[in-house]
Amino acid sequence: MAVPVPTTSTVIEKQSLYDNVIWQFDRSADLMGLDPEIRKIMAATTNEIQVHFPARMDEGNIEIFTGYRVQHNNALGPYKGGLRFHPAVDIDEVRALAMWMTLKCAVVDIPFGGAKGGIRMDPSRYSADEIQRIVRRFTFALGDTIGPEFDIPAPDVNTNSQTMAWIADTYASTMPPHERSRCTHVVTGKPIESGGSLGREKATGQGVAFTLREWAKDHEVDLRSATFIVQGYGNVGSWAARLMKRFGSKLLAVEDVTGAITAPDGIDPDSLAKYVVEHGGVAGYPGTKEIDHTTFLRTKADIFIPAALENTITGATAPLLDVKVVAEGANGPTDPDGDAILAKRGIDVIPDILCNSGGVVVSYFEWLQNKRSEYWELVEVDGKLLRIIVNAYRKVRDTAKRYRTDWRTAAFICALGRLETVYKERGVFP
Ligand code: GLU
Repeated sequence: MAVPVPTTSTVIEKQSLYDNVIWQFDRSADLMGLDPEIRKIMAATTNEIQVHFPARMDEGNIEIFTGYRVQHNNALGPYKGGLRFHPAVDIDEVRALAMWMTLKCAVVDIPFGGAKGGIRMDPSRYSADEIQRIVRRFTFALGDTIGPEFDIPAPDVNTNSQTMAWIADTYASTMPPHERSRCTHVVTGKPIESGGSLGREKATGQGVAFTLREWAKDHEVDLRSATFIVQGYGNVGSWAARLMKRFGSKLLAVEDVTGAITAPDGIDPDSLAKYVVEHGGVAGYPGTKEIDHTTFLRTKADIFIPAALENTITGATAPLLDVKVVAEGANGPTDPDGDAILAKRGIDVIPDILCNSGGVVVSYFEWLQNKRSEYWELVEVDGKLLRIIVNAYRKVRDTAKRYRTDWRTAAFICALGRLETVYKERGVFP
């Protein structure tokens, strides 16, 4: 199935995402007084792989694709992070996303480093067979750059469990026969039957919902009467909405690449999710009114969940929001100008590296289950995820208080503090 590209029609020109993450990093490193040597290490990526590879199209011709894998840091464990397919994928974006992964894994205290990768392409232009061939050739091109104990990809924008099954199979097929059954954990986010974990599919959205529940408790907001809006209705946006519904909250408006819709009495997240699978986007969902991008952003609600692409909350769009909290389901949805405006307007931000960490946390559980040949029940997965998310949430909240700073800076401080300790204990080789 051709998957819709979850971008917003308003992202016209690309601003450097790596500049954004370095800006966030510098601000946090200054405030915490991060050791200058460790600061140098953390500001650089470790490995940057760019590959060009051919894949055969259905018509019989070949096309050349460009793919990336950036490994930012592995001080805490193997490199970990998703693979995305999108026309905007480039080295700058992948670098930034890899650095956020290092910090994300550190803030939730799981033993992984950070990486990210992707293929620069619009997947909606290719058939399922073509995508399969592209994925397999990309995996082959990456070769030993990835590995179950070295660098473990997972789904991200426009990739899913099927993509992971193809990667796992291609990777295993290039191994000597006696190794093949021992490398299932080269990717996470696999289909359940192929070694995936229960709860992984919804994990990122589940983490968003868990952090929002903690936020609501702290702010005496009753989620049973709360309202929310969502940008992007792919895996993260749709699951976050469906799980917020279970807390009793009402979805007022949704925007994706096909348009924006609203309904004053609320939109049912579950039936919208089914509609999006069948129709490729939210536009035209029965019983809703179509609205433009600005009207969507101006929707009065308690919660905004940006779950599309980066840089959607900017100097231009942040003034329009009429919400109490932004829960970042996407990576990097708020740029530095947007952050400054939200802070000035008293709108809370649950930052991406905390808010959307549920995905990589359950990826860690999947990886452990594969290594131990275990199958955990869903209640076990959800319970463990809840504990990790709540602990990280409280750590970030308390750090924000201690440093009198915003939550993004606090989350960075928690993550960088952990990495600083590890580097100080180990020293730098030789
Ligand atoms: N792509 C997801 C993220 O940005 C998940 C990464 C993973 O599970 O490794 O956090």
